[in-house]
Amino acid sequence: MAMLCLFAELPTALAVWLTAAAGMLLPGFWLLREREREQQRREQVQNFVQRLVDVIPEPVYVKDAAGRYIMINEAFALQRGQPRAAILGRSARDLAQDSATAALIAAEDAEVLQGLMVYKEEEVLHPISHEARFRIVTKGTCLDATGARVIVGANFDITRIRHAEQRLQAALAEQTAVAQRTRDFIQHLIDVIPYPFYIRDSQSRYRWVNDALIERYQLSREQILGHSHRELMPDRPQSHTSLEEDSRVLAGERIQKEESATRPITGERCHQIVIKGSCPDPEGELAIVGINIDVTVLRESEAQLATVLQREREHHKATLEFVQRVLDLLPYPVYVKDAQSRYLMVNEAMARDAFMPREELIEHMGLKESTSPERMRQLFEEDGNVLAGERILREEQLPHPHTGREVFRILSKGTCNNALGEPVIVGSSIDLTDLRLAERELKASLLRETALRERTEAFVQRLIDVIPDPVYVKKAGHYLLVNEAFADYQARPKAELLDPAQPFPHLSEDSRLRSREEDLRVLVGGEIAREEHTWRRATGEEVYRIVCKKQCLYIDGEAVIVGIDRNITQWRQAELQIKEALERETELRRNTFEFVQRLVDLIPDPVYVKKTGGLYVLVNEAFLRYHQRCRAEVVKAPNALPYENEETRKLSLQEDEAVLGGAEIEKEEHTIRQASGEEVFRIISKRRSTYFDGDPVIVGFDNHITRWRIAERELQRLAREDALTGLANRRHFRDEAERAIARSSRYDEALSLLMLDIDHFKHINDSQGHNIGDEVLKQTVLRCLGGLRSTDLLARWGGEEFIALLPHTRLAEACQVAERLREELALTPIATGNGAISVTVSGGVAQWQAGESLDQLVSHADAALYLAKEGGRNRILPAQAENTGVRV
Ligand code: GH3
Ligand code: MG
Ligand code: MG
Repeated sequence: MAMLCLFAELPTALAVWLTAAAGMLLPGFWLLREREREQQRREQVQNFVQRLVDVIPEPVYVKDAAGRYIMINEAFALQRGQPRAAILGRSARDLAQDSATAALIAAEDAEVLQGLMVYKEEEVLHPISHEARFRIVTKGTCLDATGARVIVGANFDITRIRHAEQRLQAALAEQTAVAQRTRDFIQHLIDVIPYPFYIRDSQSRYRWVNDALIERYQLSREQILGHSHRELMPDRPQSHTSLEEDSRVLAGERIQKEESATRPITGERCHQIVIKGSCPDPEGELAIVGINIDVTVLRESEAQLATVLQREREHHKATLEFVQRVLDLLPYPVYVKDAQSRYLMVNEAMARDAFMPREELIEHMGLKESTSPERMRQLFEEDGNVLAGERILREEQLPHPHTGREVFRILSKGTCNNALGEPVIVGSSIDLTDLRLAERELKASLLRETALRERTEAFVQRLIDVIPDPVYVKKAGHYLLVNEAFADYQARPKAELLDPAQPFPHLSEDSRLRSREEDLRVLVGGEIAREEHTWRRATGEEVYRIVCKKQCLYIDGEAVIVGIDRNITQWRQAELQIKEALERETELRRNTFEFVQRLVDLIPDPVYVKKTGGLYVLVNEAFLRYHQRCRAEVVKAPNALPYENEETRKLSLQEDEAVLGGAEIEKEEHTIRQASGEEVFRIISKRRSTYFDGDPVIVGFDNHITRWRIAERELQRLAREDALTGLANRRHFRDEAERAIARSSRYDEALSLLMLDIDHFKHINDSQGHNIGDEVLKQTVLRCLGGLRSTDLLARWGGEEFIALLPHTRLAEACQVAERLREELALTPIATGNGAISVTVSGGVAQWQAGESLDQLVSHADAALYLAKEGGRNRILPAQAENTGVRV
């Protein structure tokens, strides 16, 4: 940059120097010589300046006020890739890559000439290699040696500096990232440790702490880092100890101790193992590494365990005392012996029985001096067997060793493990002496009771013998008692039946099995009551019986089975006779029904019999044909024929009810059948009757009269219509016209009448034949109908004469209508089988006057028609005003 400033000032200094030198020269020759010298010196100066700038390794140039290069150095030419001569004298406009760059340079040059100094850094593409280059562009202005204003510029390529800078930044960023990742890793690592862990510097300030320590302090990581334990917890006495320890650790000592402390925040008591040591950190500084392992739970558990063990010992003692008390409550001797047959525990009853104090028995074998060696050997052997797993339970009858009295005892011995898991012998002896003596007494009294029982049984026997139906009492698979009736019925002597050695001699093997099954059921509380139909083996006669079996308690209090067989043969026989009579009646009823069915099937119209609720019990074939159903679908099938709608259903049910109540229905119905669309006329009759089973029923008959009704309707139509044209005939017209006159009269409405007559129709008949005449008549009618309203009535008055009634129409309008018909007919001939035939009509029109009769109205129109014919035909005339009083 200093060099650049020097260069910028250089042309000005040269110019001053040159002007001063020139002012000292003489005019004339001197002047000429001096000019030559001056020229030389100028060139020398210029050459010097050129060499000077060529030495500068970055592009430098001088431009005149018009932007043309007047001096450039080699670096400039080299950068442009052009020889110096190709650049000098040319402007940026000529040399720039594009017009936009050229304009930018021109604008910048103009600003520089105004005095602005350009100093900027820019990124450009190298004109030849097209790689990105960074350069510092400087531009300024000054006066050259001649005093002209020039632009001096230089471009310094700083691409390599920039690239080096960028690489440096990237390397720095990577180093920072690696350091951060390392820190993060270490932090994660120590956070995994569940106990407070820290690294402190040589001033005891925290450098690293883990989550457990943060939680212990209840402070944020930022609040802890950079502070010592003393700064964070100034009140705690441990802080002092901690500092003192830190200095020991820094001196190379390793501390490991267990201490009980209070937690900093919660104040709870805790036990911890404190471990501290030192090591150099990455910067080589000595750091303190510490961990406090919490062993509170461990120490507390240990304390608890000790308490539990103590409690357990006490409990064991208490249990033994309790067992002793329980044993003492037992009234018979109980003892526990060890494997050497020494008593460990005896109860009071045992001590009493042995005639020894308890203390003398415990830890001893409790044997008397008098005990024989034989008895001792027997005892040891038995204890040995018991310890090997044998269970001893036996009754002994011996004289008592002390009292000599006869004693019955049950001896019981077994083995089990005591609380320490050692095998012990547990034994007891129960004194049964009283019981056995009582038993003896009991036997004697039982003998007395048996005698009583025999007497009772004899009484019971007499009692059941009175019952006329067979009765027995069974127990344990044989008869205990049977009565006379039973022995009679079985035709066997009582003794044979009661012999327990050969039970149930009268039963076959099958019956015996079945009887046994039943007995078992009865003994568990069941009851049997069933009817049996058998043939007596003895006589072969048929027997019906009701067999009943029940459990009850016998005299001795045991459950026995009491059975009774009731003979109901006579009732069953009577029943059978009744059943046969009923069957005969059913047969008769069926025959009757079939006959009735055949009878009604002969009737060609539908006949049915219904019960209440619309249930058909009898229908004939015509009925099924009409409803297109088979008999099974209808007879006794609920809702066999669904009603068309709710209204019909209700009506039908009402009618049925009325008929069942005694009413008679006789009505005609006209229906359109939904399925086929067929029109049906029926005379429906319904009557009440009583069915075979005595129920009230409805007997219905549908008399189909469709064909007659249709014939009637046809007749009526024929009586009203003209057969050829289908128009109303004169009679029908008269009826309708009379009604129209009555209406007009009542409502004071206008009404007109038109009479039309085909002109010279006779001629058409004569020339074309009668059939063509008919054709013409029909076509004329169709034309007329086309010209009339639907409310108008056209009729055939006679031959080729027609009459039309026009309601709500005045004379003038009616004349217009008639005129239109006439004109239309006259203009268009009628097409017939014999070709087109021209037809004209004449007509007379009259309006009905109040009080006028139909005949009068017709005669007025007729008179007008007459005049129209008279007047030359093919025209319409209104009735004369003097006749009718109407103005046209
Ligand atoms: P005018 O112009 O005076 O009415 O002359 P016209 O020939 O029409 O009158 P006229 O009363 O003399 O003759 C009517 C004829 O119409 C006579 C009869 O044979 C014929 N006629 C009447 N009824 C029918 C019919 O139903 N069919 C045919 N084809 N002709 C009929
Ligand atoms: Mg005519
Ligand atoms: Mg006529």
